[in-house]
Amino acid sequence: MRVKGTNKRDIGGKNRDKGMIFLRRLWKYVRPQKRTLSLAIASIVVMAISYSAGITAILPILTVMIERKSVPAWVNNSIAEERLHAKLDVFNRVDTGTTGPLAEYDHAAQLTAKPREKSPLLKLARKDDLIIAADDRRMDGPELFRYIASLPQDAQVTLTLVSARELKRTTLSVPLEKTELRWRAGHAAASFLPSGTSRSDMLRTLIYILGVMVAISLVQNAARAVGEYLVGVVAARTLVSVRRDMYRKVLRLPLAFFSQHGTSDVMSRFTQDSQDIYRGLTFVFAQTVREPLKSLGVFVFALWLAPKVTLFAIVVAPGAIVLIRYFGKIVRRANRRLLQGFARMLAGLESALIGIRVVKGYNMERFERRHLFGIDWTMMRQQLRIEMVEAVISPVFEFLGIFIGALATIWFFSQMLDGQMTPAGFMTMVICLVAIFDPLRKLSNLYTRLQRANAAAERVFEIIDLPVEEPYRPGGLPNLEEMRREITFEDLTFTYPGSDRPAVRDFMLRVRKGERVAVVGPNGSGKTTLLAILARFFEPQSGQILFDGEPVSNYSLRSLRRQISLVTQDSIIFAGTVRENIAYGDERLMRQMVLQARHPQRRYPEIQGLERIEDAARAAYADEFIRQMPQGYDTLIGEHGATLSGGQKQLVAIARAILRNAPILIFDEATSQIDADSENKIHRAVEDFLANRTGFIIAHRFSTILQADRIVCMDEGQIVDVGTHSELLERCSLYKTLFETQLMDRRPESRVVREAEPVAPVTGS
Ligand code: ADP
Repeated sequence: MRVKGTNKRDIGGKNRDKGMIFLRRLWKYVRPQKRTLSLAIASIVVMAISYSAGITAILPILTVMIERKSVPAWVNNSIAEERLHAKLDVFNRVDTGTTGPLAEYDHAAQLTAKPREKSPLLKLARKDDLIIAADDRRMDGPELFRYIASLPQDAQVTLTLVSARELKRTTLSVPLEKTELRWRAGHAAASFLPSGTSRSDMLRTLIYILGVMVAISLVQNAARAVGEYLVGVVAARTLVSVRRDMYRKVLRLPLAFFSQHGTSDVMSRFTQDSQDIYRGLTFVFAQTVREPLKSLGVFVFALWLAPKVTLFAIVVAPGAIVLIRYFGKIVRRANRRLLQGFARMLAGLESALIGIRVVKGYNMERFERRHLFGIDWTMMRQQLRIEMVEAVISPVFEFLGIFIGALATIWFFSQMLDGQMTPAGFMTMVICLVAIFDPLRKLSNLYTRLQRANAAAERVFEIIDLPVEEPYRPGGLPNLEEMRREITFEDLTFTYPGSDRPAVRDFMLRVRKGERVAVVGPNGSGKTTLLAILARFFEPQSGQILFDGEPVSNYSLRSLRRQISLVTQDSIIFAGTVRENIAYGDERLMRQMVLQARHPQRRYPEIQGLERIEDAARAAYADEFIRQMPQGYDTLIGEHGATLSGGQKQLVAIARAILRNAPILIFDEATSQIDADSENKIHRAVEDFLANRTGFIIAHRFSTILQADRIVCMDEGQIVDVGTHSELLERCSLYKTLFETQLMDRRPESRVVREAEPVAPVTGS
């Protein structure tokens, strides 16, 4: 079991990217789905527009209900206001309590405020003055408005005004402003609605408008459903392609990476971090497009009603941005720590569960529990920090919104009192404020959520940015020819990262093709490391390995490893059937079998070479025990091959190596207890297999050494001596000690030795 958390370093460490890596780097993965994304965003835009359209429909409803005007009359009134740049309404004798001469003009058009700067009436009319006729025809208010609205774009109109104070009549000819498109559209739309103000007309108006609103809402919600699903599609596909790059990267990382960082950290980046990225993506595409658009749509409408609302936006925006950035920073840091904590928790749990026997045997349950609890506790603190920011940010913005909304409402109200705004306009404006603010409130968490996803993306891209075992080169490296004459180890020195002592030092050896070399030495003398360098699992810091005089580092990794069959100490057995475990030695065969197993109903062309698996098993002397298992070759062997004994596992591993049929064998003999029968079989299998191959054997047993042509005796990473058993026994004291203490100790029962004896007739000295 690993010492807790001491040998792990933070991947990527210092050179962390400070920007919004999330958005910048993920775009590469999102881009292939541009079409789906465009559709998604189009739906979201439709949705946002219909939201604003729904709000705008409130104004005519309120106008009808509060001001008791028909919609066409209100539209005409508004157009007339626009064309004359003046606020106009219909004079009402009773409502205004007017008596005297002015009362005679009941229902005439009236200016409710001082004409605006641009107005042609500016010099001649004041607030409360009446317009009683146009083009010499006496008209009441609604009629006048309709008339003005219907005049062509560049028309002039002759108006007759009555001054409210002096009761003086003035007639003047004024130019009319052009009617803007939106009003022409409004005019066309309003023409479908009843123009009267009777009870049934008003009711019908309301029903029509509500009908339109319901229809809009239907569109809005349909667009929303489509948009949300498509966003999910884009996010999920993006995540899959990010993970695909991660898999590709992780499997090509140098072994040294894992010996330094362990596996749990990487695993948690695949699960927890990717999940955060997924959430971030859906959030960005759905909310960040939808909510601001909703806000913006209503804002534009509000701007149209009262242009001065921009002032509020200018005042509010910078403050909000500062606040949001501040909170975002806290969340990003906290989430990074949280995700690191998650990786630590996985590591702790993994080691506790793998070593569960030790944990139980040494009564360390309480220790482990406290250790895990400690990690969990730190994670919880980070989680709570995020929760706190997210909990605070929304209420803060809500409060600020109410405060600013109150100020705005006071201002609109004073506008209404000055006649610059109708009561319906005022109420609509208040509703608009709410409608602008609500999406923004929902967005208050946008930046913090982005920062959360950003912290996760940083960690994921740290993995993707790691250097691989064999960097890509255009055209690739040439393939190494099959070794014909010899392998040379030239002055190899290798130190593990973080270690201060080389594990292999100045190692020099020449091995002829077909030779069998046994490597012996005390524990930690560098045997495993040496053969790992041969397979280029680690790159030596100095020196090199040559195949027929060619440095292997000039050739592709694949072509080197293709020449090597590997039987490791723990001979990892994969979760699967015995057959699959052996087939792992041949990529093509394995792939065909996996496909067939995954889709049993599909018809694949008959898998070629299946019989080779059983041949290999026979050659490894594994066939016999495999056939005795409940389902023979189809028996599932557990996650760590729990149902096989140590010897049987190694036999399966040898069968796999035999299937691979590579010219070089690296065989790391099991140190653990292996029953005599298995050991005997292992020897025979290796002996047969090495008949015309080159073999490197890390030997722990005397009988294995007897199979070797030469023995390399190592200590502290260096060669102490090389020779045959009898030579070494004579001149090498370390070998002698080894032989007496270790090799002889593991000397199997007499039967095996008897078989071995004719090869090298050696007995204890
Ligand atoms: P042997 O196979 O002879 O027992 P190894 O090759 O496993 O020896 O180890 C050689 C030396 O390298 C030892 O001192 C060991 O502690 C060290 N070592 C082995 N693996 C690692 C690793 N992943 N990281 C750091 N040091 C290691």
